[in-house]
Amino acid sequence: MSDIVVILPDGSELSVPEGSSVEDAAYEIGPGLGKDTVAGVVDGELVDKATELHDGDDLVIVTDQSDEYLDVLRHSAAHVFAQALQRLHPEAKLTIGPWTDQGFYYDVTNVDLDMDDLEDVEAEMADIVAEDLPIERVLVDREEALEKYADNEFKREILETEAAGEDPVSFYQQGEFEDLCQGPHVESTGEIGAFKLLNISSAYWRGDEDNETLTRVYGTAFESEQDLHDFLEMQEEAKERDHRKLGQELELFSIDETTGPGLPLYHPNGKRILDELADYAKQLNLDAGYDPVETPHLFRTELWKKSGHYDNYVDDMFLLDVNDEEYGLKPMNCPGHATIFDQRSWSYRDLPVRYFEDGKVYRKEQRGELSGLSRVWSFTIDDGHLFVRPDQIEDEINLIIDNILSVFDTFDLEAEVALATRPEKSVGSDEIWEQAESQLKSVLDDSGIDYGLEPGDGAFYGPKIDFAFKDALGRKWDGPTVQLDFNMPERFELTYTGEDNEEHRPVMIHRALYGSYERFFMVLIEHFNGKFPFWLAPEQVRILPISDDQLGYAKKLQYQLGDFRVDIEDRSWTLGRKIREAQEDRVPYMVIVGGDEQEAETISVRDRKEREAKDVTVEEFRSHLEAERDEKRAEPDFLDE
Ligand SMILES: [Zn+2]
Ligand SMILES: [Zn+2]
Repeated sequence: MSDIVVILPDGSELSVPEGSSVEDAAYEIGPGLGKDTVAGVVDGELVDKATELHDGDDLVIVTDQSDEYLDVLRHSAAHVFAQALQRLHPEAKLTIGPWTDQGFYYDVTNVDLDMDDLEDVEAEMADIVAEDLPIERVLVDREEALEKYADNEFKREILETEAAGEDPVSFYQQGEFEDLCQGPHVESTGEIGAFKLLNISSAYWRGDEDNETLTRVYGTAFESEQDLHDFLEMQEEAKERDHRKLGQELELFSIDETTGPGLPLYHPNGKRILDELADYAKQLNLDAGYDPVETPHLFRTELWKKSGHYDNYVDDMFLLDVNDEEYGLKPMNCPGHATIFDQRSWSYRDLPVRYFEDGKVYRKEQRGELSGLSRVWSFTIDDGHLFVRPDQIEDEINLIIDNILSVFDTFDLEAEVALATRPEKSVGSDEIWEQAESQLKSVLDDSGIDYGLEPGDGAFYGPKIDFAFKDALGRKWDGPTVQLDFNMPERFELTYTGEDNEEHRPVMIHRALYGSYERFFMVLIEHFNGKFPFWLAPEQVRILPISDDQLGYAKKLQYQLGDFRVDIEDRSWTLGRKIREAQEDRVPYMVIVGGDEQEAETISVRDRKEREAKDVTVEEFRSHLEAERDEKRAEPDFLDE
């Protein structure tokens, strides 16, 4: 028997006999590791430790010390849920039950469940964990598998699609329960240290709204009770900060049934924040040598065919018929910018050409997927497109990365960076893709930024660097991207004249600093818990006169602070109530004025952290505000704790 070679995470090669499994390879490295092996990651995919390896595979061994262990544990918890459900409700039909970032879910049907039922299921799950049942992989003949699922059309469909051609097929068994499944799983149900069922919602089979509606039960699982406790506390905090709740309380935005789903309406408070964000991005873009452009919301379908969107994206587009001609609302701004570039001739000296536009786009997400500002039908991308010579790519990408990281810094967000490579559905030759991927990789390697890989997650026209926002609660959200595109310039036949007087193709770079304003706004609302930094706050200062006698003085102060967004609380409430209200509205500064202040022509200042200063002059206050606004840095230190 000959040997095959697999590549370990440190880049080293391991030679193992042909036919070796993940577990065999682990034993080859060391008996201790072999014994501890729970599963493997082969070419980016989490698999059972019995999975056979092939020559050239990238291999990561998963033990209970690995990050992936939690995924394995949660998938096992999903099976424990399914087993408990079938013990209590044998009529329930199981469909799919994967792990997620937050835990797991299982989609079921033919059973009516409410939160009370879940308590019973949870108690049954606890029994199953206490029974410490071994979880074993069993291979079942295809015919027998189809018979097992004679009454379950969903599992049969999986056998005919994902598992088509597999014979035998992989099942996992624990006690009396078995489930069609690729694994991997922990060794026994007793390994699940802590779990909880969280809620019930509905979902479509295969996420397609034309299909049957299923009941989705969400749960989570951890190695320890402490981890579960911390998670639940974080969930509570997240609920308090939910941008849909704060959006309403702070009058930032609304989404109205009559105006349409997924189509946000921004109220004055929200729009003030968006305008500040737009001004900030605009300044960064102008400083980095970008030129502003503007394109309409609608283009002829001809353009979408030329750009390739029609072939790859048509299901997500809003199309309309105008005088027997088809038009589409733009799902992306790039084709418009490429067309602008194409309207004149360029010399190599003119490049790079950099365009930016806050461009509104429309994408038809499934209605069931829409949620607040995080999933919408219409959103605005702070979009930029660069047309560069091949020798300028690395410099330009470096500049873009600098700009993106300065945005993260300004908003106190942590960045998580990943290189996303060629997806299944893509345009362009192998050569072009390899070139593009290796260029992005070399920029990232040189920059010293820590980054991960997202195999198959690139755009259909090129690979990209994805930035995720990590917020104050440690959650991750999709952020801006930098995409390299060798394909659109081909499709639009874009050219510039080189030093050699020949025509050359520019390379296109797509980039954003925020991603979409909607997503970014959502992240900011929750990250700051509505306590926006001073420069963003819709109302920056609220003047609280102690009695109506100071209203005149309050108006004078408002005038003196005219550069800022200042309101006067003129309702005849007690000072305590006025302060509480301003605190609830998360106004950064309260200016309190009574008879003494009026007399001395000073003010008392209080902030959201309940820090105070008395006998402050307006000029002094003003210069602190200016510094805070211009530096975009939170809270100056002139207030006492
Ligand atoms: Zn499974
Ligand atoms: Zn683009």
